[in-house]
Amino acid sequence: MRCKNQILKKVRVLLYPKFKILILRFCDTCDSKLIKTTIGEKCPKCDIEIIKQVESIKKNQDNIPEYTLGQDFPFEKNEYYLQKAIRNSLGCSLMSGINFNKEGNFLVIFMNAHNPKRSQNNPYHDYYDSETGLYHYIGRGKKGDQTLTSVNEYVAVSNENNTIIHFFVQRNLGNDHQYVGKVKLEKVIPSIQTDKNSKSRKVYEFLLRPID
Ligand SMILES: [Zn+2]
Repeated sequence: MRCKNQILKKVRVLLYPKFKILILRFCDTCDSKLIKTTIGEKCPKCDIEIIKQVESIKKNQDNIPEYTLGQDFPFEKNEYYLQKAIRNSLGCSLMSGINFNKEGNFLVIFMNAHNPKRSQNNPYHDYYDSETGLYHYIGRGKKGDQTLTSVNEYVAVSNENNTIIHFFVQRNLGNDHQYVGKVKLEKVIPSIQTDKNSKSRKVYEFLLRPID
């Protein structure tokens, strides 16, 4: 007769190589086992609201289709999205703050939060003026005088050309971008700012107003 233990032993040996050392952590408040999320370990009871939020953002980002003209715009006003997902969906370049889609006659503009320690990477002194409700967005060009050519020109003539401008803002460093909605160019102001080499140069400041 075969011994039961013998079989158990075999099973155990087979399973052992797959085992990993697991360190389980528990909630300080309610003692529930913490679960892993994209923003670290969270308590399924105490942090339920945060977990739901993270899951809904993740779901939003997984479901963003590649946008084709005539379809519903895949982004909802005031919602947050991964910049990469926005760029993929709307066919933007990898880096550019201002992106023009010729076929669809629309612009996609990204405004990023500023990192004071790495201002060379983002020499654009753009900001939101809460008193006027206008976004002050600096045109493209990190070095030297900016010109009203290329994508800067598309923004400058957006009203004449009926170009739609979709505007996304990163409110804090490291955060996803919020879809502000469509904006309209109210004014172009030539001004003087420092470039990535801390030299004074001419820039174009686009004053953008959310419209819907
Ligand atoms: Zn808890």
